[in-house]
Amino acid sequence: MAIAFLSSCIAAAAMAVALVFSGQDHGPAGLCVGEHGKSAHDIGCYFSESYFEARAKFRQRAEAAGATLHALPVIPEVDPSYTIDVAVLEGRGEGLVVSSSGVHGVEGFAGSAVQLAYLAQRTASAALDAVGSSNEASAAAAAAAEEAKNRPTVVLVHAVNPFGMAHYRRFNEHNVDLNRNALHPDEWPALLARDPNIAG
Ligand SMILES: [Zn+2]
Repeated sequence: MAIAFLSSCIAAAAMAVALVFSGQDHGPAGLCVGEHGKSAHDIGCYFSESYFEARAKFRQRAEAAGATLHALPVIPEVDPSYTIDVAVLEGRGEGLVVSSSGVHGVEGFAGSAVQLAYLAQRTASAALDAVGSSNEASAAAAAAAEEAKNRPTVVLVHAVNPFGMAHYRRFNEHNVDLNRNALHPDEWPALLARDPNIAG
């Protein structure tokens, strides 16, 4: 099975934002209107001021797109509202596409925007599907929506580091950089054998 994994460190996320929006001339309908006075065509409507705003938007848009939602609290004993949210859009196609945002917390705002824009496009596609094929234009739209169902399953992982995103920092609640400190199990013995007083 082919698996594509898209992780949004800031540069990759910026490129993805450009790609998502460059091909979008009709703008997604609905959820953006009236939000901070922005219109549905405003790129800014996908960005959030806070982690909690981003999380609420992600869940709302995932639901609208017909995704299955999961919420994974990272520090349930302290504050269960810090969650990694996972939206699964099942497809019939082969393979799996996984997109994550916010491994470095503060960078999650760009990745979240990409995921929101993608969900908006999927919602527009589902809405067109519901319209049916009463005329030529909607027949083409319905065909496009049908074709979309043959795509691979897409898994969107929102805010891998929700605490860091909420506090505008790269590190998580344990002061761990989830990217720089990610180790393969084989690498742990060497790390543990090192003098902990040596910097780095
Ligand atoms: Zn990063």
